[in-house]
Amino acid sequence: MLYCNVVVDISIDRLDKTFQYKIPSSLESVLMEGMQVIAPFGKGNRKITGYVMDITDTPEFDPAKTKEIIKIVDDATSIDNQLIMLAGWMKRNFGSTMNQALKTVIPIKKKSNPKQKKTVVLALDEQSLSDEYASLMARTNHSVAKERLFKALMEDDEIPWDVITKKLNIGSNIIRDFEKNGFVTVRTESTYRNPVSHLHGREKRLELNDDQKRIVGRFKNDYDVGTRDTYLIFGVTGSGKTLCYLEMIEHVLNAGKEAIVLIPEIALTYQTVMRFYKRFGDKVSILNSRMSTAERYDQFERARCGDIKIIVGPRSALFTPFPNLGLIVIDEEHESSYKSDNVPKYHAVPTAIERARLSGASVVLGSATPSIDSFMKAKSGEYTMLKLPGRANESEMASCEIVDMRTELRRGNASIISNRLRELIHDRLSKKEQVMLFLNRRGMLGCISCRECGHTLKCPHCDVSLSLHRDDKMHCHYCGYITSKPSVCPECGSKAIGGFSIGTEKVEEIVAKEFEGARVLRMDMDTTKGKAGHEEILSKFANKEADILVGTQMIVKGHDFPNVTLVGALAADMSLNVPDYTSSERTFQLLTQAIGRAGRGEKSGTAVIQTYNPEHFSIIESRSQDYEAFYDKEIVYRSLMHYPPASHMLLLSIQSEVEADAEGLANAVAGEISEHYPDVKMLGPTNANIYKINDIYRKTIYIKDERYDFLVGIKDLLDKFLLGNVKYTRGHVYFDFDPINVQ
Ligand code: ADP
Ligand code: ZN
Ligand code: ZN
Repeated sequence: MLYCNVVVDISIDRLDKTFQYKIPSSLESVLMEGMQVIAPFGKGNRKITGYVMDITDTPEFDPAKTKEIIKIVDDATSIDNQLIMLAGWMKRNFGSTMNQALKTVIPIKKKSNPKQKKTVVLALDEQSLSDEYASLMARTNHSVAKERLFKALMEDDEIPWDVITKKLNIGSNIIRDFEKNGFVTVRTESTYRNPVSHLHGREKRLELNDDQKRIVGRFKNDYDVGTRDTYLIFGVTGSGKTLCYLEMIEHVLNAGKEAIVLIPEIALTYQTVMRFYKRFGDKVSILNSRMSTAERYDQFERARCGDIKIIVGPRSALFTPFPNLGLIVIDEEHESSYKSDNVPKYHAVPTAIERARLSGASVVLGSATPSIDSFMKAKSGEYTMLKLPGRANESEMASCEIVDMRTELRRGNASIISNRLRELIHDRLSKKEQVMLFLNRRGMLGCISCRECGHTLKCPHCDVSLSLHRDDKMHCHYCGYITSKPSVCPECGSKAIGGFSIGTEKVEEIVAKEFEGARVLRMDMDTTKGKAGHEEILSKFANKEADILVGTQMIVKGHDFPNVTLVGALAADMSLNVPDYTSSERTFQLLTQAIGRAGRGEKSGTAVIQTYNPEHFSIIESRSQDYEAFYDKEIVYRSLMHYPPASHMLLLSIQSEVEADAEGLANAVAGEISEHYPDVKMLGPTNANIYKINDIYRKTIYIKDERYDFLVGIKDLLDKFLLGNVKYTRGHVYFDFDPINVQ
C-alpha cells in the first residue's frame, strides 16, 4: 500500500502542514508529486483539493483510519497547477524535497510597504539628461538646487523623495517642476513598480537579413500550425540573434501569449534591457538579483494579472506565473549560471523545456558556442537547429593570433604581456582605439604547470588536472589518486614548475606602468560590488573614459563596444587546468567570446591569445572560431570518458561538520549503492575539490550511466536509505545531476 502526503494550502509558510491519504491501487502507477487531487476531509468528509507533496510506503497513522484520495484533478490549464507540477518534476529529476522544489518555483509572498513611499525616477535617457543639464548650466544665474538635482540624477536614476528634500535640501517645488518638464516621474510605492518604466525610446526597426528571415520564418510557420518545439539558434557572435528573438516574441505576443527571456545576470545591462524595451515598451519587465523580495513578488503578480507580457531576467525568471506562456528564450544558453547551486540543483534548459511542455510553449536557445549537450541534441534532431553563419552588420570577424608564451620566456620576456601584444596595444593607443585585456582566472587555484614547456600535471586515470593541496601532494578529485609534487617537470626537466597565479589587480598595475599615460579601468568581483555594479564601469568604458579595460571573464560577456579593436587574452589556457570535465568547453567558449568582442564596429579587430598550450584543440579551434570543429573533437573525449552528454553523471556530495560522519556516511552510501547495483560505475568516495568549506567536510561520489532514469533510481534508493539513517545524523547528502562547476 502506498500513501501520499497532501498539502491543502500552497503558501510557502504552510507547506509543512500535510495530511496523509491512502493511494487507491487504480492510481498507484499514475500519481506523482505535484499533482492536484481531491480528497475527503474532516468529520463530514467534505471534498477538498490539495497537492501531492510526496509518496511513501510507510504510514504515519493507523492505516485503518487513513482515508483514500478520491481522484486526480487533470487540470494543467491553471498556472498554479502547472508550476506545482513543474516543482514535482524538479524534485524527481534533480533531487530535493517537494518543499524545497516549491520554494524555488513559488515566490515568497511579501507585500510592498503599504505606506505611500514616494520615489523620484529619472525619465530621460543619458543623452537628453546631459543636454538638459548643459542647457541649465548655460543660463547665467541658474538655480543651484536644480543643478544639484541634475547631478544627483546622473548618479542615481531613482532617488527617494525624502532623500531629495531632506538630505539634498531641494524643495518639492523643484521636483514638481522637473516632473512637469518630463525630466522625472514620481512613483508612489503602493502601485506595483515597473523597474523599466523610466526607460523610453523607440526602436529603429531593422530589416531582417536573409538568414534571419529563414530561421524566424521557420519558427513562425511551426508556431502557426501548432508545432511546439525546442530550437537552437547557433549563430556566431554578432550574427543578430537578439533581433530574431524580438521577432519571435512579437509573433507569440500577437497570438495572445506571453514570453520569458532568460539572459545571464551579468549581461542584464541597460544596453540589453533597452533593446527589449524599445520594441515592446511597458509590456516588458525585468527581474534581477538586486531586487527585494517584495519587488520580485510584484513583478510576478503583474505577470499573473496580465499587466506585463514579457519578462527578462536570470534563471529564476523561468518561474514567472504567466497564464498563457507561448515562448521561453534562453540567450547564451551555454552559460554555467543557468545551473542552480541551491537544492534542487536544476538546470534552466531542461526545466524550461518541461515548463514549456506543461504550458504548450516553445523554447528557443541561442549561442555562438552552444553547450556540448545542446549541440548534440540539435545535431541528433531532438532540438531543431537554426543556423546564422555570418555577422549581421557585415563587420568582419576579428583576426586572431596565438602567442606561445613559452617562446616568449625563452627569448627573455618574462612579462605577462608578450612583445606582439605590447606592440599592438601601442598601435591602438596611438590611434585612439580601445583595448580589452581579459585575464582568464578560472582554474588559477592550485593547478601546477611548467612555465618552460607548458606541461600540466594530470591524473593518469581521469585526464583532468591534478591540484596541489596544502600537504604539498597532488590530488585527483575524480578518483582520489594522490601523488607527490615533482621537483622538476617530468616532460622537459625544467625546474620552473609550480603553482601559477596572478590577479587582475596586478595586471592593472603592470599595464599602467608599461603604457604610461593610458587610462586603465578594471572590472572584477572587487570593483563591481557597489550598487551600480558593473554597469557603471561598462558605461565609462563605452563613453571612452578609458583606453584599456582589464578584467576577468565578466568583461567578455555580450557587451558591444564599437571602438574596441584589440582584445588580449592573457593566460588563455588557465581554464584548461580546472579539474573538471568541461574545462575545454569553458576555455573554447571564453576565448570565442573574447575574440568576438574585437571589431564589432566599422573598424576591423584583432585578438591575441597568449597561451602555454598552443597545440590544445580548444585554443586552435577558437583561433579560427570554428565551433563545429571543436565540438567534433570534444564529443569524442566525452564519449571515451563517459562524461555528459555522452553519458549521464550523478554527483553525490556528502557533507558534515563532523569529519568522521562525512566519511562514515559516504562509505555507508557507497555500500548501499554497490549492494543494490553491483555493476554500477561508481568513483569514490573521495575528498571534494575543496574538502572543507566553512568548517563543513565534503566527500564526493560520482556515478556514471547512460540512463538518466537509472541515476534517478539511485537517488530514490538513497532517499529511502537516508530516512533510516540513524548513525550519521549530522551528515547530509546532496544530489547534483550532470554537474558542472564542481567544487
Ligand atoms: P548576437 O546576439 O548574435 O551576438 P546582436 O543581436 O547583438 O548579435 O547583433 C549584432 C549587431 O548587428 C547589432 O549591432 C545589431 O544591431 C546588428 N544587426 C542585427 N541584425 C541586423 C540586421 N538585420 N541588419 C542590420 N544590422 C543588424
Ligand atoms: Zn616542462
Ligand atoms: Zn583520477
